[in-house]
Amino acid sequence: MSTIFALSSGALPAALAVFRISGPRSKEALLQMSKKKIWKPRYMHYTKIYDIRGEMFDSAMAVYLPGPRTFTGEDTAEVFLHGSTAIVDRMNETLSSLPGLRHASAGEFTKRALVNGKLNVHEMNALGALLQSTTPRQLEQATRALSDGDWLHRRITLIRAKLAVFADFGEDVQSDPKEIRKDIEDLLIEIKEKRRKGIGGERVRKGMRIVMVGKPNAGKSSLFNRLCGIERAIVSSVPGTTRDSLDINRVIGGINVTIVDTAGIRDSLDMNPIEKDGIKRTFKLMNEADLILAVIDSSSEDRDILSLIPPHIPRIEIFNKADLIPNIPPTGQFPVKMYTIATAPTGCDSLEKKLEETILELCPHNSELTLSAGIAEVEKLVEECLSHDDIGLVNEILQMASEAWGKSETNEELLNNILKNFCIGK
Ligand code: GDP
Ligand code: ZN
Repeated sequence: MSTIFALSSGALPAALAVFRISGPRSKEALLQMSKKKIWKPRYMHYTKIYDIRGEMFDSAMAVYLPGPRTFTGEDTAEVFLHGSTAIVDRMNETLSSLPGLRHASAGEFTKRALVNGKLNVHEMNALGALLQSTTPRQLEQATRALSDGDWLHRRITLIRAKLAVFADFGEDVQSDPKEIRKDIEDLLIEIKEKRRKGIGGERVRKGMRIVMVGKPNAGKSSLFNRLCGIERAIVSSVPGTTRDSLDINRVIGGINVTIVDTAGIRDSLDMNPIEKDGIKRTFKLMNEADLILAVIDSSSEDRDILSLIPPHIPRIEIFNKADLIPNIPPTGQFPVKMYTIATAPTGCDSLEKKLEETILELCPHNSELTLSAGIAEVEKLVEECLSHDDIGLVNEILQMASEAWGKSETNEELLNNILKNFCIGK
């Protein structure tokens, strides 16, 4: 294992420049630079710092921290020099020329902390966000994520411990299978909540895609234009006019949203190839949507479109052309049904309001920083536990859930993705 070093403090010039050294040769490096024979661990010492030619170039405070009680888990040294570029250059040069030492790459200290079990991938991700936070809300989210990085392992371990007690001592101990089942049910609720908040968090960060679908002539483009506030889509009474999709960006309820108007969906029998292509794209857009606006012509009985929408994607059913029916029914709850008149001046006001409400519901204020890798798999496994009575089996499935959650810790791709956001010295 090589010993790595890097400047861990910020931009120069500054009052101080902090170098971090981590690895088996940390103490040796400190002794060589200070021309000392011994170094008492965990105490700050004032010392002169010499370069490779034996020339003194600064005086500094320095500390030696033996592993494993350090950030990386390895022997570590920290040197607090004066923060000029000349001194930092000299220090880099000096450390590079010491045997077994090399400059750290971005995030390498953190990677070592991870490898040595000092951090898990969830905590590392949170740490990355913490270091990059620029607003109080981002800082708050990251701090919270950092403090409960390993909550799922803790919860599962606790349940498995109860199961083990029950398996060993049976009914005469306090470990009650009903109570254990309740624990698992509670855990499942919590996982679902975390996942919902995680998805919400992704939406806050990346924005939402809202896709309008419907049969030709239902009034999609008219509604789209109303939502845009400007005339973008061509409105026509000839079915199938909008063949490609059009989109507009808006901020609704503080969330960036993209609203997409798509080609109408209809029986493909009498469609030309261009139309068929448009419909293929519409299905793709639907599957990638965060919210679907299903537009139906209320004057027709044609509701087939509803069965074509992927059921797991949130939707608002919009019954347009409400001016053509005798009585407008009240707005339904689930799924949300809206009645609109795209061609009347205030005929879309309630839709605007409902849209904002729905967006806020999908992006709750307490959204989590990230959607944790592996959580969907964990949810599936924990849910499966509830359909088994056999304690041994439940225990095994919980172990699999724990592993699924931990698997992300060894996922190299995920790791590198997070690490590339760290700067050198972190
Ligand atoms: P699309 O094919 O779904 O995009 O439908 P369009 O927006 O192009 O509208 C098709 C036709 O329906 C046009 O002639 C519109 O003026 C008309 N239309 C749209 N909305 C309404 C509505 O609420 N009431 C009535 N009466 N006609 C509408
Ligand atoms: Zn259209």
